[in-house]
Amino acid sequence: MPVPDLIIRGQRVVLPETVAPRSVHISEERIVFVGDYDDVVAGCELVDAGDSVVMPGLVDTHVHINAPGRTEWEGFRSATLAAAAGGVTTLVDMPLNSIPPTTTLAGLEAKLASARDECFVDVGFWGGVVPGNTAELAPMFARGVVGFKCFLVPSGVDEFQHVTEADLRVAMPELSRLGALLIVHAELPHSIKAEGGADYASFLASRPRVAENEAIALMIRLSREFGTRVHIVHLSSAEAIPSLRAAQAAGVKITAETCPHYLHFVAEEVPAGATEFKCCPPIRERDNREQLWDGLKDGTIDFIVSDHSPCPGEMKLRESGDFMKAWGGIASLELRLPVVWTEARRRGFSLLDLTRWLCANPARQVAFERRKGSITVGADADLVIWNPDAQFTVTPSSLHHRHKLTPYAGEVLNGVVQQTFLRGRRITNSPLGHLLLR
Ligand SMILES: [Zn+2]
Repeated sequence: MPVPDLIIRGQRVVLPETVAPRSVHISEERIVFVGDYDDVVAGCELVDAGDSVVMPGLVDTHVHINAPGRTEWEGFRSATLAAAAGGVTTLVDMPLNSIPPTTTLAGLEAKLASARDECFVDVGFWGGVVPGNTAELAPMFARGVVGFKCFLVPSGVDEFQHVTEADLRVAMPELSRLGALLIVHAELPHSIKAEGGADYASFLASRPRVAENEAIALMIRLSREFGTRVHIVHLSSAEAIPSLRAAQAAGVKITAETCPHYLHFVAEEVPAGATEFKCCPPIRERDNREQLWDGLKDGTIDFIVSDHSPCPGEMKLRESGDFMKAWGGIASLELRLPVVWTEARRRGFSLLDLTRWLCANPARQVAFERRKGSITVGADADLVIWNPDAQFTVTPSSLHHRHKLTPYAGEVLNGVVQQTFLRGRRITNSPLGHLLLR
């Protein structure tokens, strides 16, 4: 056997079907062999994780980085450092909140230029579907975006307009022709109310489940009609799970994700004026949270991504506590592993479930599964070593993303990330991440 560059071994290595004592042999950035724990090679650097978990590096396909143009909200350096600290080795950037947005080929080129040599982990890119940009979709897809995002409600920024059913009837045949995935912010505007205040209940009432349920029904209908693959981002309304399940069973190509904040927090406990909890769709009640876990358990919900959506702290309007006017978004790229593990373990889920939700399934969503999201021969040697039994208290000042206001402040979580490896190298202070083009 030739001497590999590095061997990482441990008592709890998470493989696709089992957790077992194994050694992971790495050469030229890839996993070349997975052997028994004792299969080590003299003269090779060895990292022994002991009783800590060795897992595939996390894949997060829903991250808003905001560069270029709104780099003061977040940038590639700060976001990818936060990712690495949280065990994330691949992320995919959303097409909005940067200026220009990634809705044209020129916008994509601007995005790539701002990311180049700035990334500590590997980064892919979503394009956007906005009214009138159908002719840009094929060039962006050829350049390498993993798929396209649209909004059915105003997105929060003027330069990324939402689409109507009429717009989708133009765009979806083109997406089907390309074989491209359409990911959808699924809330319909006519069910959303403009009035509310500092109490969380009135904000929650302004974004009712029905706005999501009806939007998802529309997307099921359009996916069936045009044959376009559709994915619902940040599912919050558990009421939509039965219709998603029925559509999937009937062969409609529709999938869904949810986010750590919907699986951890409950509306009943959000303090008045605590706008750091604001996101759209909103964090809902305790019963709803448990039903989302049921949707993950039976596979109707495919995976969990952060929807890391930062902004400068003052845009959260913490002083007035006005939920209706505050920016909606929770920055949690770095905390996804411990938040989900804390809640999953409490409900009896395993490390295999966790790895499916945080690594393998998001990698498959963007067709990165041959290289990302699993410990298999031939995959990139992206690995995280973490202690599932250690606890920590979230201290905002120790987070790596740019703005520290977070609803997780003071939360006690299980799961401490110890080391993150990108393509066989410990992530240090040089940005060695690749831009992943399809
Ligand atoms: Zn988002």
